[in-house]
Amino acid sequence: MNIIIFGPPGAGKGTQSKFIVNKYNLYQLSTGELLRKEIKDKTELGSKISSIINSGELVSDKIVGDLIEKFISNENYKNKIIFDGYPRTLTQAKNLDNLLKKYKQKVDIVLKLSVSLETVKKRILERQAQEKRADDNEEVAIKRYKTYEKSSEPVIDYYKQSNLLKIVNGEAGISEINSEIRVLIDTIKG
Ligand code: AMP
Repeated sequence: MNIIIFGPPGAGKGTQSKFIVNKYNLYQLSTGELLRKEIKDKTELGSKISSIINSGELVSDKIVGDLIEKFISNENYKNKIIFDGYPRTLTQAKNLDNLLKKYKQKVDIVLKLSVSLETVKKRILERQAQEKRADDNEEVAIKRYKTYEKSSEPVIDYYKQSNLLKIVNGEAGISEINSEIRVLIDTIKG
């Protein structure tokens, strides 16, 4: 089973992905975490993308596409991936379909966590105190939310058409969201 978890910054994608990974024995593929690691390790790619990430914009579809292909092509992860923060544009969604087809896989469910800008701002400020991410401040959080609103609509429409999209109320508490997600996954697992 391959799962996509989708939603604005601060929606709880990372938190919920970790639960799903443990429960269903999957691998979490967070493009944001992979990109932050490049910056931390001071790689050439890291130096190219740090200003983009810190301004709340998206890095190029090509860069993230190359990162995810490394996972999708790995037999150990076959049909066991939860895509956290990918795809974020229509081009990425189509690219993901092509890559999965190339490696004889598919997307099984798309979970969209819906949350308001007010909640996002609150959660990001809380997370800033714990994780100290350079892009977790109010100004950049608002920018990331706006970037999400602008780029996500075509992605949502794309998955609506293929009937894979499930909307989850991301305003609820962590364990409530978790239960709702488990029901949805168990339903498609049969
Ligand atoms: P996240 O950890 O998912 O909130 O991502 C942090 C930042 O990494 C985003 O604001 C983007 O700048 C970048 N990023 C992560 N995933 C993607 C993606 N799929 N496409 C483009 N940029 C991304």
